[in-house]
Amino acid sequence: MIQRWGRWAGVVVMVSGLLVLMVRWYVAPEPPGVRVTTRLLMGTLVAISTWGGDEHQATRAVGLAFEEMARIEALMSRFRPQSAVSLLNGAKRGEERPIPEELALLLVKGVELGRLSGGAFDIGLAPLSDLWGFSREPPPVAPPVRESIASWLTEHASLNGLGIAIQSTPEFRVKLSNASVGLDLGGSAKGYAVDRAMEVLRREGVVNALINAGGDMLIMGSKGETPWHVGLRDPRDPSGVVAILDRVGPLALSTSGDYERFFWADGVRYHHILDPKTGYPARSGLISVSIQAMDSMTADALSTAVFVLGEQAGLELLQHFPGSEALLIRENGEHVKTPGFVGRWSKTP
Ligand code: AMP
Ligand code: MG
Repeated sequence: MIQRWGRWAGVVVMVSGLLVLMVRWYVAPEPPGVRVTTRLLMGTLVAISTWGGDEHQATRAVGLAFEEMARIEALMSRFRPQSAVSLLNGAKRGEERPIPEELALLLVKGVELGRLSGGAFDIGLAPLSDLWGFSREPPPVAPPVRESIASWLTEHASLNGLGIAIQSTPEFRVKLSNASVGLDLGGSAKGYAVDRAMEVLRREGVVNALINAGGDMLIMGSKGETPWHVGLRDPRDPSGVVAILDRVGPLALSTSGDYERFFWADGVRYHHILDPKTGYPARSGLISVSIQAMDSMTADALSTAVFVLGEQAGLELLQHFPGSEALLIRENGEHVKTPGFVGRWSKTP
């Protein structure tokens, strides 16, 4: 089985021919009865699998679930000029702007996690993300000049907190404090979209489904008699699987790693998860963080936050989120997991 996964592990998704994304979770080759539909959304290949039920009903439900994810992308992507996020990012700093309630609720959770993580999770670091340009095409091949990172750090440090003020009455309004703040929801919006997509499937009568959106996976029900069977990719061996999970939902799993979007320069691996304290890709001693939680948005945001914080502070952060569990891979290749994490090792740690 692991060898069969190995073939899947080699899958590389090419978006517009340039952006290379490595798949983090593998779903085992399916038995009869599982329908899999894929679509490119939110910068990744999203696969929705359903099992059982009426085929027409499931096909319709999956179509609507993809539509829901596309709607959220149109609202929350900072790369869509007309998205609510882009309009806010383009607004004058210090000025309050109305925003849709749905976006405001995501921001409230993001700001709260920013506070709990001591600023390690920062939904306002878009200007820093732009300096690094991991979402650019062609992707970057060298780090930004030190001076531009230093001036971002100085301006960001002058803020009170994250520099994102949210007001809820009489309508949701947001104010971004200075030019070092701009919304980048890349660390949590995909998880949110996955939650919403699963909600659509449930509403449309689907009982058994698995959504795999790059690093974010959400499971509902089973494959009849059998649980869903998935593997976590070995970050340093594209043909390997670190952990195996046989699970019946509900369960959310998200992985953040330094191997998803990165480049090498002068022997250093520069990746897309940034430490707002240094302005550089996080070097916390971890190369992969998987989080298990009850909803995908929480798992998504926590995997990014724990990656930045590192093992000790990361596991302390999880104490604030009952039911959350972690599987961590250290720089030296050692694997650790909290007692409640659902997977079993596929090889000796
Ligand atoms: P993920 O793959 O879920 O860990 O999210 C990584 C994405 O989150 C990046 O591509 C950025 O868009 C964004 N991001 C990077 N660093 C941070 C951070 N420290 N806090 C919040 N979001 C971040
Ligand atoms: Mg994340």
